[in-house]
Amino acid sequence: MPDLYAVVGNPIAHSKSPLIHAEFSRQTGQEMRYEAILAPMDAFAETVAIFRERGGKGINVTVPFKLEACNISSRLSARAHAAQAVNTLVFDGGGILGDNTDGAGLMRDIMINQEFSITAKRVLLMGAGGAARGAMLPLLKQGPSILTIANRTGQKAHELQQQFSHYGNVVSGDYADLRGEKFDLVINATSASLNGELPLLPSGIFTGESLAYDMMYGGHTPFLQFAKKDGATRLADGTGMLVEQAAESFFLWRGVRPQTAPVIEMLKKFKPRKV
Ligand code: NDP
Repeated sequence: MPDLYAVVGNPIAHSKSPLIHAEFSRQTGQEMRYEAILAPMDAFAETVAIFRERGGKGINVTVPFKLEACNISSRLSARAHAAQAVNTLVFDGGGILGDNTDGAGLMRDIMINQEFSITAKRVLLMGAGGAARGAMLPLLKQGPSILTIANRTGQKAHELQQQFSHYGNVVSGDYADLRGEKFDLVINATSASLNGELPLLPSGIFTGESLAYDMMYGGHTPFLQFAKKDGATRLADGTGMLVEQAAESFFLWRGVRPQTAPVIEMLKKFKPRKV
């Protein structure tokens, strides 16, 4: 039987991970099966245990279980430890390895697919949840001139600032504090777009060269609409990040790096991007 993998979340019906991994498997000739599993809200650990008993080799973890996945891991990669969130589980002889490929996926999409260099740039990261935490260290490793974290609940942004301030120039605040500031790269790592909402961003934060990046995928998000009106000329949704983080998980499991560009193109055709 081919090796078995899955994505686990709640809800899960919307997940594009089975489609992406089927493409990777076809492209690389790796024989594997990949399922989407809905875990009850109070039974993530049990769902994972049953999957392991069935012979499962690894799991992608999505909302809302990334913290629980961290807790059930017997060991964490350095990047999962820094993020305190796990999106990839690897079952091996040593138990459960918890890793986080979201940050690496984001970096590959911004730097390779969008051809945007972060070094010495002014970066604004919106949000202080799991996705933002996973992005902190990879962003700081690129040496931005400043990394500003803004969050609706200012205290959480402040905690992130304290946790990561020894890696670079990090400041934090709420959205009102951004008035009068300009950024070269603005990343929306909030879940506001999921509800058609927009954090209370002041206008005037983009330059004509700025890249506006929404981690949510699906094109014309409220944040990207705002960015376009506010003068940003480069807009990207999270489709590339989604495919790149999946490729990183595939590499962890199979030791083979699939090509991402054709899969990103396929997903864009699947749901055309209007930005
Ligand atoms: P979390 O639930 O951990 O965090 C949500 C964040 O959004 C918090 O900072 C919260 O602020 C903020 N927020 C929610 N609603 C609003 C609002 N109306 N106005 C302002 N701020 C708001 O979510 P995640 O970090 O896991 O995910 C965030 C986003 O990133 C999601 O859209 C998710 O789909 C996307 N994502 C995309 C990936 C990809 O591969 N493309 C991978 C991972 C995530 P507060 O602290 O005040 O509550």
